[in-house]
Amino acid sequence: MKETQSTCPYCGVGCGVIIESQGAQITGVRGDPHHPANFGRLCTKGSTLHRTATAEVTLQTRLLSPLQRKSRNTKPQPIDWDSALTQAADKFAQVIKDHGPDAAGFYLSGQLLTEDYYVFNKLVKGLIGTNNLDTNSRLCMSSAVAGYKQTLGADAPPACYEDLALADCLFITGSNAAWAHPILFRRIEDARAARPQMKMVVVDPRRTDTAAVADLHLQIQPGTDVLLYHGMLHLMLDQGWTDPAYIAAHTSGFEALRELVREATPITVAETCGIAQADLVEATRLFARSPATLSLYCQGLNQSASGTAKNTALIDLHLATGQIGKPGAGPFSLTGQPNAMGGREVGGMANLLSAHRDLGNAVHRAEVAALWGVPDVPATPGKTAIEMFQAAADGQIKALWIACTNPAQSLPDQATVRRALERAEFVVVQEAFATTATCAFADLLLPATTWGEKAGTVTNSERRISRVRAAVPAAGQARDDWRIGRDFAQRLAARLHRESPSFDYPTPESVWNEHRESTRGRDLDITGLSYDQLDQAPQQWPFPEGARSGRARLYEDGRFPTPDGRARFAAVPYRALAEPCDAHYPFALNTGRLRDQWHGMSRTGTLGRLFGHAAEPTVQLHPTDMARLQLAPGALVQLQSRRGSVLLPAHASPDVAPAQAFVAMHWGGEYLSGRAADGSPLAGVNALTQPLYCPDSRQPELKHAAIRIEPA
Ligand code: SF4
Repeated sequence: MKETQSTCPYCGVGCGVIIESQGAQITGVRGDPHHPANFGRLCTKGSTLHRTATAEVTLQTRLLSPLQRKSRNTKPQPIDWDSALTQAADKFAQVIKDHGPDAAGFYLSGQLLTEDYYVFNKLVKGLIGTNNLDTNSRLCMSSAVAGYKQTLGADAPPACYEDLALADCLFITGSNAAWAHPILFRRIEDARAARPQMKMVVVDPRRTDTAAVADLHLQIQPGTDVLLYHGMLHLMLDQGWTDPAYIAAHTSGFEALRELVREATPITVAETCGIAQADLVEATRLFARSPATLSLYCQGLNQSASGTAKNTALIDLHLATGQIGKPGAGPFSLTGQPNAMGGREVGGMANLLSAHRDLGNAVHRAEVAALWGVPDVPATPGKTAIEMFQAAADGQIKALWIACTNPAQSLPDQATVRRALERAEFVVVQEAFATTATCAFADLLLPATTWGEKAGTVTNSERRISRVRAAVPAAGQARDDWRIGRDFAQRLAARLHRESPSFDYPTPESVWNEHRESTRGRDLDITGLSYDQLDQAPQQWPFPEGARSGRARLYEDGRFPTPDGRARFAAVPYRALAEPCDAHYPFALNTGRLRDQWHGMSRTGTLGRLFGHAAEPTVQLHPTDMARLQLAPGALVQLQSRRGSVLLPAHASPDVAPAQAFVAMHWGGEYLSGRAADGSPLAGVNALTQPLYCPDSRQPELKHAAIRIEPA
């Protein structure tokens, strides 16, 4: 039996695993006792990874050879790799020649490894000459990115996992960490057991498993987060609970914010947020007066048309109270996907460039062009996720390349996504699994390796970079994602007849070495981190050349990466939900994750035991709504929004507030059927959700849609 150290591919906690294998078969998995993210623990998903990689599951679910669909509505047929990549290069070159580089769009994934991301970013921005490259990280962390940059000056979570044990107050807002980040939550439970005086405040419209064990749960109305934080600052100012010395020494812009929150009186805030004034005061006191307060937050803040404002208003509280840059304190975004952070590090999004450089900065563009050996990189921001599919639906983007993600289930407003995939002239889907809804729209399917078969690196929520290693050979003819990008780039360069950056990468390590050199002198400088060093232990960035260790905590000296070294308060007004509930659509729909499932279930859905927690998709309603609609438990109801409808069994849950509904995001296909407004078939809860997005982060509003519910 062979043992291989690697990393769990599911979530941003980034747990270390030891893969057990015999020959070409993965036979077991256990937690890596030496990995600083999990010290040997794994959750139900991580501990069953090997069962998703059996020979039987592989045969049933994996894409094992390249497939080509000669015309739509026909069955895809096998094609050899060379012909597949040549055809892809021919089609993309033709589209670029006929319509320009912006007629191509690439939609990637926070589950790709950093090396995969790097090659595709260089291919799209350095060779093709468009910034139309975005990823499902746009649905995950882009509001956190924008929030950090607007206030602290850089996309860098300032805290670390050790702070969980050092905090005196945990302020968990917009995160059900007990289900979405289970191993991190185990650390919280340990910390509370060791220090019972530690307080935990949870802000969430639902009484989640996280909220259920909190000292105080603020069950706010959906979308009122910014007003809550403004109300807390109003109270802090009123009570003298801010830190004027910290504000004066290390920040700018406080006066505008002080003026803004003047109107956020306790009575107004309590009434609008739907909470008791006494709870508002107590939460504020715990946040401001605890020696160290750590905020943990995730999609409840990020997936919102006010996502950036929610992030900045929360960070404002930390700056106003000096709760940052010291042990156990700070704003700490929890990354949803395993490598949403690594993708940002290489600049793998429509508005970013390598190593946290900005597209809008001419000096940064020139630096990246010099690194890649090309005359320039395009200055115009590319289309972000929602914009990219809208542009394809409108006929502007004609060739789409989709890698390691399933937009035909996961993007909001599925009717538009379906139109995009049908209207695009050429769709390439690079995937490990043949079972995703998006595969059905591909003209060309390229089989990719996945967990246990591929090597590279990922970065977790606390900026810690870990090695991912291959334990077994690739399934069938699957190839590594970075290699597919490289081989396509070399063919495309020959057809475009233009100066091409080098894609001469023999190994993922050669990609890594180029990436780490691109970070020299940047906030995330990792020039000191080789594969050899990462093989000894995962490390946090920054880790510049000559460093002996990474930095656990940022901004301890009170200096921030802004032009004047000061953090910036953001005075952004509270805005109510853009799609409020009304007489026609009286319910607020909230979507989210279950404990034992992951994304669109392409991996977790292969295991019967992971359905023990939730066997089927349901809509959860408050018991009073069940009674008012005269629904028996399990009664079939139709959920209808302005964009589409789905059919689901309804169940009562006191954890969901009256006039609200909760549906898990995982089910699609035949398990959760629905219809678009024009009657065409759709699947999954995103038949209902809206394409509205935050104007700063472009992250869509997946946490709220106004719906009506009727017995089916
Ligand atoms: Fe994997 Fe996340 Fe579970 Fe850790 S907490 S084992 S990274 S799914």
